[in-house]
Amino acid sequence: MSPRFAVFGQPISHSRSPAIHAAFAKQCGIALDYQAIEAAPEHFTDTLAAFAADGGMGANVTLPLKELAFALAANASSRATRAGAANTLIRVGDGWHADNTDGIGLVRDLTQRHGINLRAQRVLLLGAGGAARGVAPALLDAHIASLNVVNRTLSKAQALAQAMGADTQVQCCETAALAQLQGFDIVINATSAARGGQLPALHAGLFSANAVAVDLGYGAAAEPFLRWAAQHAVVRCIDGLGMLVEQAAESFALWHGQRPDTQPVYEHLRGA
Ligand code: NDP
Repeated sequence: MSPRFAVFGQPISHSRSPAIHAAFAKQCGIALDYQAIEAAPEHFTDTLAAFAADGGMGANVTLPLKELAFALAANASSRATRAGAANTLIRVGDGWHADNTDGIGLVRDLTQRHGINLRAQRVLLLGAGGAARGVAPALLDAHIASLNVVNRTLSKAQALAQAMGADTQVQCCETAALAQLQGFDIVINATSAARGGQLPALHAGLFSANAVAVDLGYGAAAEPFLRWAAQHAVVRCIDGLGMLVEQAAESFALWHGQRPDTQPVYEHLRGA
């Protein structure tokens, strides 16, 4: 039985993961079977079990299945445990090992592609959903000065802060308190507000001089926040396309033991 790989989500037809992994495999000389598989949350366990029975050795997991994937795994990396969510599953014996490569994907994109030094930066994270949970541990591990998490639903921001560990100083508040915050070096939009055509609540004072605005979304989803930032004198605006390619490369390396060159794949997607 030849090894199979796949990305699971709902919806999934829009996913760029099959094309990204195909490009990595071609570069590394690996014959890869990687498909997109649609799965509703209530069918995910059974769909994943059928995939494993049919030679499934690795899976990427996206909305709305990341927490479920983490919960059903036999064990997990510390970064997936802190996130409470998995975007990568690796078949080990009869079970799954859960990992989360979203955070390292963002950090690699910011530091290596965009040349941003995260050390000692004041970071504001808007949102406390799966993506925010995934990137927060990696930002803290990159020795930022502080992390403020602002979310529409305060309890989710508090849960994120708690999951980062007792010795980690993560400040959190609800959106209404955003007006009292100011002067961040990096403001990251990890909300899905753009899907409803909305912006998270913002004011220009949130950005310090020379601040960087980052949206984890890409394409049209990243436009409202990054356009707003550019209109309010933020010079460096970065979308989530680079993160997408970097998190995929990290998953690829976990499965195949080879690290692909991400730049040509990133440039191809950027030009497409
Ligand atoms: P979730 O559904 O898990 O979380 C959504 C978050 O957005 C919650 O914090 C929610 O707040 C907040 N939100 C939704 N609507 C609004 C609104 N109108 N105003 C303010 N806040 C709002 O989604 P994810 O965390 O998985 O995804 C978030 C974004 O990150 C998406 O754009 C996704 O595409 C992107 N992403 C990019 C990746 C990449 O590789 N580039 C990887 C993963 C995600 P509340 O808790 O109050 O509901």
